[in-house]
Amino acid sequence: MDKLDRNNYCLSCEHILAEQGFVFEEYPPYMGEPINTENKKCANCKQTINNNLELIKNDYNTFKTALVNNKIKVVAFVAPSIRAGIGECFNVTEDCQYKIVTALKQLGCSFVYSMNFGADLTITEESAELKERLNNNTNLPLLTSCCPSWINFVYKVYPALKKNLSTCKSPQQMMGAIINNYFTKVNNLKSSDIFVVSIVPCLAKKLERQRENINFSKGFDVDACITTTELAQLIKEHNIDFNNLANTEFDNLFKEYSNNAALFGIAGGVSQSIIYNLDKDAVLLEEKITNIKEKTFLVNNKKVCVAQIEGLANTKDVINQILNGNCKYHIIEVMACSGGCVGGAGQLVQNADILKRTELMKTSKNNYCFTNANDNPIIKELYKKHISKELAHKMFHENRE
Ligand code: SF4
Repeated sequence: MDKLDRNNYCLSCEHILAEQGFVFEEYPPYMGEPINTENKKCANCKQTINNNLELIKNDYNTFKTALVNNKIKVVAFVAPSIRAGIGECFNVTEDCQYKIVTALKQLGCSFVYSMNFGADLTITEESAELKERLNNNTNLPLLTSCCPSWINFVYKVYPALKKNLSTCKSPQQMMGAIINNYFTKVNNLKSSDIFVVSIVPCLAKKLERQRENINFSKGFDVDACITTTELAQLIKEHNIDFNNLANTEFDNLFKEYSNNAALFGIAGGVSQSIIYNLDKDAVLLEEKITNIKEKTFLVNNKKVCVAQIEGLANTKDVINQILNGNCKYHIIEVMACSGGCVGGAGQLVQNADILKRTELMKTSKNNYCFTNANDNPIIKELYKKHISKELAHKMFHENRE
């Protein structure tokens, strides 16, 4: 496996480039177009901006090659926020979730799943982890681990907080692990017979899939990450008439997911899903909004205090509180982009209407009528019959030492 020199990457690269008003002349913005590197430091973290275009382009090219290789099957899965973002590339204002499935099948993918199923796995594992930490009063506050820019920030700038990070992998990496384990067994395939691609709102996910110790299988669990705008470009290159595509359902094996899983695409969604998975009758007692959102819930008769933060710059006060031992929160969710993944710059950056995307995420419904991951019948069956505690630990958790 290739080792990456992480010192060359901005901790929140795509997000910061967009925020600093860099002008991109080609669509999609970063493909083949030199990034303006005059100001080489990222506004938030003062690290060098990611200007390794080759790394970013690699995934796009390997995905294209896999699509025309008839010896392997391409298995795709789609992140929650893509349904609200890709329409803008085609002047469509509706939820495009099921058009995306049709497009990916027409491009040559053999199987298409929703990453929301991976979000349900993350909710299952992370709510159990929070319960254990609350019971034992250890490593609190729990810091969420779904956003790779935030993980990089902690690893590089505040390594003393690594023990507070959830050990749970992100939904992307949990999907990659379950595909390389359970999916391959069910379909009588080997990992070498498949190419796994995730459709993401984010460049940092391209680095995440290559993070040291994150992979369960021998190679990469996820072979490529393709952004919303890259997928739109590919659809255009293939002359697929996206606007008039029919809807297609996700494939069966991981078809069902909770309504809360879909909230992973917006800021606050991760911690909210975890709280309600711990106690479906949790009560919101108090909410305060400053530069962060602070919520107090009654969870199983115990007060649980949650901080929800968008943007790494807004983490400063809370991080100081943790380091000084006077932090009142039990769980802190951090998403590097404004609005969460709906605001990732793998989505269309120019004229982005984050509020509209957020609204679309909140009003979009899936075809299943359960709210919490606990009630997902596929998850229940998997944990009952196929995933032992030991296997779950190996597949879904990361060593933070
Ligand atoms: Fe990527 Fe979402 Fe984090 Fe933005 S908030 S860096 S899109 S994971």
